[in-house]
Amino acid sequence: MLKVGFIGWRGMVGSVLMDRMKAENDFQGFDPLFASTSQVGQNGPDIGREIPPLADAFDIVTLSGMDIIVTCQGSGYTNKVLPELKASGWNGYWIDAASALRMTDDSVIVLDPVNRHVIDKALSEGVRNFIGGNCTVSLMLMAVGGLFQQGYIEWLTSMTYQAASGAGAKNMRELVSQMASIGNATAALISNPASAIHEIDREVINTMTGEEFQVAHFGAPLAGSLIPWIDSAMESGQTREEWKGFAETNKILHTRAPIPIDGICVRIGAMRCHSQALTIKLNKDLPLEKIIDLIGSANEWVKVVPNTKEDSLRDLTPAAVTGKLIVPVGRIRKLNMGPEYITMFTVGDQLLWGAAEPIRRMLKILLAYLG
Ligand code: NAP
Repeated sequence: MLKVGFIGWRGMVGSVLMDRMKAENDFQGFDPLFASTSQVGQNGPDIGREIPPLADAFDIVTLSGMDIIVTCQGSGYTNKVLPELKASGWNGYWIDAASALRMTDDSVIVLDPVNRHVIDKALSEGVRNFIGGNCTVSLMLMAVGGLFQQGYIEWLTSMTYQAASGAGAKNMRELVSQMASIGNATAALISNPASAIHEIDREVINTMTGEEFQVAHFGAPLAGSLIPWIDSAMESGQTREEWKGFAETNKILHTRAPIPIDGICVRIGAMRCHSQALTIKLNKDLPLEKIIDLIGSANEWVKVVPNTKEDSLRDLTPAAVTGKLIVPVGRIRKLNMGPEYITMFTVGDQLLWGAAEPIRRMLKILLAYLG
């Protein structure tokens, strides 16, 4: 029976992966081994059957007994352990949520509803590294993969509204603590219907700019505000998050002539759903009904939301989408720049299609391939 090692299973992405695998009854047909960088010998996750105590995630001998390793531990772990494993002669399959290997020549970025043909070709060519994509890129492709697949996109710009979870668990806690501080500071004023709005406003801004306000992880207030910078600076003037839009999309799609993609990535006070406003220049004037049909029929998770206030408020918000695999796309219309210019808004749970789900599905594809 194939042996599969899981590293990083208790982190944020890893725990969503465990939940999804349990929900889909995936823990069968292989021997799982769970490892940790910090809890060796303790109990692993509850997967509905007996499993050995946690192995040491740095033990190369143990890891080299695995046919497949699935890691959600992070790039530092990948950069340290994979070269040591390869040096030991290991030739197994590496499935990884971290970004470290995404752009290497010997890896494929996995998003099978969009690039199953790229994955299948790579498997037949002996590729061993299968890497989950950037959350924003994966969600954008789940939303408008239909237009890319038909070759209708000349260029695309994405203005993002990204959730706190993309920055990690500590940042999610910081967002909620910022919300609590603002709530506590204004509680008395809010409970008094006669209080003046300018007093509430002043109390909010005094709290947000005060020394007690928790900003250690984001570096600036996020609750009641936003942060127009995600990740590190690039020489181009983009942030690394913005750079990934072009680099990863074209790698996922395996485009012959790269499609220009760019935009501004912004952190907002949502918990775990990323949203994006897309502007697309098509290479021909398509009827709106055809555009909607191409978007809505691309995969079984994308869902077109009619361009009405009622539908948008009900179905096209982070609050409506959290915890769900659907990727709604709404506000679809032509722009007044010309008939080839279209806009739309999309939302997706970035811990599901943006992180854990492509990894879960890649493991299933690989297990089926290896028979
Ligand atoms: P994370 O929550 O920080 O977890 C990573 C590891 O931290 C865990 O596997 C665990 O390893 C250790 N850890 C220490 N204290 C912990 C605690 N109190 N609870 C749980 N785990 C704890 O990392 P992540 O956000 O899941 O990200 C993992 C990788 O996926 C990163 O490379 C990230 O860039 C990538 N990714 C993240 C997202 C996202 O939205 N967060 C999306 C796509 C890709 P031990 O058991 O070994 O101690």
